[in-house]
Amino acid sequence: MKFLLIIAAAFLAPAHAESTADRWNLSEIYPSLAAWNADADKIDAQLNALTSSKGHLGESAARFKQCLDLQADLTKRYFRLKAYSSEQVAEDTGNAASLELDQRADLLGNKVVEASAFVDPEILHIGKDHIAQFLHEEPLLSIYRFPLEKTLRMAAHTLNDEGEALIAKFGLMDDAGVSAYTLLANADIPWPKVKLSTGEEITLDASAYTKYRQLPNREDRKKVMDAFFGTFKTYERTIGVNLYSQLKQNSVYAKVRNYQDSITRSLDRNNVPVEVLDTLIAQTNANLATLYRYFRLRARMLGVAQLHYYDIYPPLVHSDLKLPYDVGRKLVLEAVAPLGKDYVDALTYGLNHRWMDTYPRPHKLSGAHMDSYAYDVHPYVLMNYNDDYESVSTVAHEWGHAMHSYFADKAQPFVTSNYPIFIAEIASTFNEELLLQRVLNTAKTDDERLYFLGFALENMRATFFRQAMFAEFERTIHARVDKGEPLTGEALTNVYCDILKRYHGDGEGVVDIDNAYCTEWAYIPHFYNSFYVYQYATSIAASALFAKRVLAHEPGALTRYLDLLKAGDSGYPYDLVKKAGVDLATPAPYQALSARMNSIMDEIEAILARNKK
Ligand SMILES: [Zn+2]
Repeated sequence: MKFLLIIAAAFLAPAHAESTADRWNLSEIYPSLAAWNADADKIDAQLNALTSSKGHLGESAARFKQCLDLQADLTKRYFRLKAYSSEQVAEDTGNAASLELDQRADLLGNKVVEASAFVDPEILHIGKDHIAQFLHEEPLLSIYRFPLEKTLRMAAHTLNDEGEALIAKFGLMDDAGVSAYTLLANADIPWPKVKLSTGEEITLDASAYTKYRQLPNREDRKKVMDAFFGTFKTYERTIGVNLYSQLKQNSVYAKVRNYQDSITRSLDRNNVPVEVLDTLIAQTNANLATLYRYFRLRARMLGVAQLHYYDIYPPLVHSDLKLPYDVGRKLVLEAVAPLGKDYVDALTYGLNHRWMDTYPRPHKLSGAHMDSYAYDVHPYVLMNYNDDYESVSTVAHEWGHAMHSYFADKAQPFVTSNYPIFIAEIASTFNEELLLQRVLNTAKTDDERLYFLGFALENMRATFFRQAMFAEFERTIHARVDKGEPLTGEALTNVYCDILKRYHGDGEGVVDIDNAYCTEWAYIPHFYNSFYVYQYATSIAASALFAKRVLAHEPGALTRYLDLLKAGDSGYPYDLVKKAGVDLATPAPYQALSARMNSIMDEIEAILARNKK
């Protein structure tokens, strides 16, 4: 059956007459397989050289620099090999030769990690004072000043050799929780079949759930949610035990590594103060009135008296608006004009020089992403452009990442170019806001305006409020496990239920949350990647404040924002964002996000009032 589907897909006429200009040019990374192989061979030689410096790093500043240079060069080379192989797979996931090349890259990656494993412990052994002396003696070591500081910070959380060896052995079991969850959720859980009002029978797995929860027919949406979360109820105990074991593991690591609790350890990886997460949670709760206002507006626009949890996902306004790529491209380029000529020029150049694979094709990887691993080449963007506004918004988003990498790579040496997620989503959500402003300027009808505004509003709910809600759930369950309290699946459901109902104003009659939907926590894979998703919420809050200032032409605002992009990974992310003018441990960015949502709702209400007459 599957085979037939693939054949059929291959014969489908492409929606677009695709030209070379619409395909990215991976030959800029490697002109041939031979060139890839030559670089892979070079890594093997470099790995031997790296291994031979083991135990010699502290001998002299020159020896120290030689080793760091070698490690940086071979890591950069490995990234380039991986960019080429993984994006070849992305172009055509069915190509066996690409898959094999990508597996070879992964094996090489394992070797790089293994061979580099001695470097950080040896730096810790050499110690802060000795390294300061090296930095003083050898000015060319200055590019490593910040990476070295990051490594040395870990001294307080590093055990003696025996302790570290023991931790490394137990580390083999680190992925038990997430592996079991992935298998359960993707392979073992028998997904229910649901018959829709159209007569169509669907199998409700995770991807079908995200598709069908938006159905216009309310009974269908309810049926979909009942069946999906009902299935998770059956597995509540098992998934609960599994998540609890992950939480216990985090708690043990925190204790062993001398942290006061799990969250401190987790955020310490990027030196983010815990106040950031606590301010996010406090401010989200302080601004729940904004979210309630959105839900009430949603109820009104959907024409339902009482909003239920299954009414969250259908679009507020239906749109048939067709935006072919030429139009979308022009809109994005015009949208980023407030970022200045250099930004527009770089984006134009990238769009004109095949940095993007634009259209969907059979076997091409779904979704969209940006790849900045080929440091010496340029960023690449994978799109599946579909002639709608969502596609245009995704182009703005992904090129926000691409331009961030472009400017960071240009300004920074390889070792401080690769910015962390804490900053990454600022650059992408900033561009989404610019695009919104651009399309609102020339929207032809009120329906169009309503569509753009509704799209932005829903994006803010999902990126800000929902991720903050997850952060509060994570904060709560980690704290309980740190205190030594047990947590069953049922207890996790109760904790989630309280938070879910508060965020949706269940007690105030805003959204009616059926207890059956409180097993939603069991569906969220991100809880196995602790304290990660909060960064989407802090990023969109930061970009709301940055955008407000840049668009108001506040003196210095644009320069500070562009400097943040150029800073790459040259400082701790919280400090870099603060230096650019946004302190994520204060209420201001969260209030800016809330104010922006309110201004969008003012506009929507004005349109609705106008059209009632
Ligand atoms: Zn992104």
